[in-house]
Amino acid sequence: MTRKPRLLIVEDETAIRSGLLDLFVFHGFEVDSAADGREGLRKALGGGFDLILLDVMLPGIDGFEICNRVRAADPEQPTILLTAKTSDEDIIQGLSLGADDYVAKPFSVTQLVLRVHAVLRRARSGQEERAFIRLGDGW
Ligand code: CA
Repeated sequence: MTRKPRLLIVEDETAIRSGLLDLFVFHGFEVDSAADGREGLRKALGGGFDLILLDVMLPGIDGFEICNRVRAADPEQPTILLTAKTSDEDIIQGLSLGADDYVAKPFSVTQLVLRVHAVLRRARSGQEERAFIRLGDGW
């Protein structure tokens, strides 16, 4: 059996955080969570997550800043930004910081789960491709 995918949820709204936690545990993920920006950044930089679900509007350090610093430490870290902000400018900022996807609140949980799986699949095939290139270099 393959190991459970590890997910970090950074969200300050308790109801949404616990809802997301239950949702992804139900879908077979191992889930850790943080309720503010500082804790979120610390856990995210601790690494070991297959994907980080990151709210943008957070007390302490916002999701854009966390995304930026996590990317600086690990450019390959899969990340999805979660936010009520839907202006083009915010979406462009989020994606230009290297987020893999962007989900606007209120979101459909079914769609969110599908997007998480899609980003994980892309990340996994990227890893295989890089491993293949490394292997190829040796020949
Ligand atoms: Ca928030």
